[in-house]
Amino acid sequence: QLDQTQPPDRPSSTFLTATSQSPIPTTHLLCTRRTRLKKIGQQVMVGDRVEIEDPDWAGGRGAIAQVFPRKTQLDRPPIANVDQILLVFALAEPMLDPCQLSRFLVKAESTGLAICLCLSKRDLVPLEDAQQWCDRLRTWGYEPLLISLLDETGLETVPARLNQQTTVVSGPSGVGKSSLINRLIPKADLRVGAVSGKLGRGRHTTRHVELFQLPTGGLLADTPGFNQPDLDCAPAELAYYFPEARQRLATARCQFGDCLHRDEPNCAVRGDWERYDYYLMFLDEVLVRQEAI
Ligand code: GDP
Ligand code: ZN
Repeated sequence: QLDQTQPPDRPSSTFLTATSQSPIPTTHLLCTRRTRLKKIGQQVMVGDRVEIEDPDWAGGRGAIAQVFPRKTQLDRPPIANVDQILLVFALAEPMLDPCQLSRFLVKAESTGLAICLCLSKRDLVPLEDAQQWCDRLRTWGYEPLLISLLDETGLETVPARLNQQTTVVSGPSGVGKSSLINRLIPKADLRVGAVSGKLGRGRHTTRHVELFQLPTGGLLADTPGFNQPDLDCAPAELAYYFPEARQRLATARCQFGDCLHRDEPNCAVRGDWERYDYYLMFLDEVLVRQEAI
């Protein structure tokens, strides 16, 4: 089994990296697609598990004969078979904004993938403040990792969460994603501190997507930074992307099946949980978006 690490803008040839299960762990093959696959319109995405026919390991060439069914498929960034999202937010510089964090969390929840939340730059705030954030995020339903690349705190906790998984890194620009990836995978050699045009996309000049192999097993993809992900889910789904609301809905029901949890009578979701106001705010946003369609 092999993983493609070539950006999709070169469809006729594909680099492949063997996974850690493979007997040849770090070999890249430049591959073509068999005509049979082209005929049926079968594309190859980064992260695909593929069968290579007659691999020429010495010459570094091969041909993709089959693409195995995808377990998951992300569209932005386009990657197949992702298991989880590593969401990185800094405790300071930039300041941790709970509304922006919630927006990223809701966006991540809407993919259905597991979420690993990581609070970075631990060295920039007093320990009590960092711990207060952790307590607060636990009430939201998350168990964050606390890390600092400067004084190295918490770094030993990260590999265990990435072990044998395919992970996509997400988060606003400037929070230390590139620094973290470089630490985990020195050969990734991403540019640190290189931000960004108005759209916060400056770090990647192309839509390059690459999966890096973790020395501890597993694969990691960087994503171009974006500061304000659009929420585009269905209004009725939104509550399920807040663990606090999801938990309430697991044990109780709203009177109305199509309840949007605003002012409907006998609502199981409305209540005194911290992020309820963010829920209402995001709900307005997805309702406006839906009307516009
Ligand atoms: P990215 O935009 O999320 O990829 O962030 P970068 O990795 O480019 O880092 C942005 C800035 O934060 C750089 O100047 C880094 O040196 C700095 N930085 C990254 N991690 C830490 C950290 O743990 N502590 C401190 N104080 N600065 C950090
Ligand atoms: Zn309700």
